[in-house]
Amino acid sequence: YFITLEGVEGSGKSTQVRLIKEYLESLGYKVVTTFEPGDTEVGKEIRKILLSPDNTELVSRAELLLYVAERAQHVFELLKPSLEEGKIIISDRYTDATLAYQGYARGLDQNLIEELNTIATEGLEPDLTLLLDIDPQISLRRAKQVTAENSSKGDRIEAEKISFHQRVRKGYLDLAKREERIELIDANQSIDNIFNSIKTILQKRLIK
Ligand code: C5P
Repeated sequence: YFITLEGVEGSGKSTQVRLIKEYLESLGYKVVTTFEPGDTEVGKEIRKILLSPDNTELVSRAELLLYVAERAQHVFELLKPSLEEGKIIISDRYTDATLAYQGYARGLDQNLIEELNTIATEGLEPDLTLLLDIDPQISLRRAKQVTAENSSKGDRIEAEKISFHQRVRKGYLDLAKREERIELIDANQSIDNIFNSIKTILQKRLIK
C-alpha cells in the first residue's frame, strides 16, 4: 500500500508522516517512510542542484527533468522494492508535486508532465494521497521561522513570490477534484486535529 503526502511548504507534511508511521506500526504494519527529492544517493545530489539558492539560472524545463530523474531513481531503488516486500510506504511528495509546482506554478504543459511522470514511475501510482491544504501565507511564515531558527539560508523555492505558492496550492486543489485517490485535509488546524482527520481516512481506506 502506497501513501503520499502533498501540500505547500510548511503545511506540516513531515510531522504527519512521522505520526502516521507510529500509528500504523502500532497496528502491526511494516512501514517505510521516505521523501522527494533526495532519499537516494543519486537523489541527494539532484536535491542539492534543485534547492541551492545559488542556482538562480536553473530553467523550468531543466528543473522538471531533474525532479523526474530523481523520481525514477526513487521508484526503482526504494519504492518498488519496499512495496514488493509488502511494506506500507509513506512518501513526503511524489508525482502530484511535479504537476502542482512545475505545471500549475511554473506553467509547463500538464500532459507533458504526466507523460514524464509515467516514464519515471513505470506507472506506479499512490493508493492514497493526503493533501494538507493551507494558505501559503500562513504556512510559509511557519517554514521561514524554522529556517531562521536553524540559521540556514532557505531554499531556492522558499525564495519564490507568494503568488507562486498560491498557484501551487490551487494546482493541488484542482488535482484533488479530479482524482479520487486524493483526500483533502484542512491543515490550518492543530497537529492533533490534522492527525485525527488522517486517522479517520486511514480507518476508512486502509484498515480493514
Ligand atoms: O520541504 P521539502 O523537503 O519537501 O522540500 C522540497 C522543496 O522542493 C520545496 O521547497 C518544494 O517547494 C520544492 N519542490 C518543487 N517542485 C517539486 C517538488 C518540490 O519546487 N516538484
